[in-house]
Amino acid sequence: MVVRMRHTRGHTRNRRSHHALEAVALATCSNCGAQHRPHHMCLNCGFYKGRVVIDLLAKKQAREARMEVKRAAIRGEEVAPAEAK
Ligand SMILES: [Zn+2]
Repeated sequence: MVVRMRHTRGHTRNRRSHHALEAVALATCSNCGAQHRPHHMCLNCGFYKGRVVIDLLAKKQAREARMEVKRAAIRGEEVAPAEAK
């Protein structure tokens, strides 16, 4: 694209007057009091509108169990899959 005409400083500054970043609006979780995006599930406890949407605690525990199996495998130990679950 070819620049056909130089913009004045005023023109450039007027355009850039809308480029400032705005602070993100946050809501407070009614369950745990953490800050979360409005109309979104709380990422700290998994609550939305007063009920559990995603059981984050169970997810965290399941993830920890998976990671433990991986760590054991790296160490060269065998862990039974039933125990890992
Ligand atoms: Zn919460």
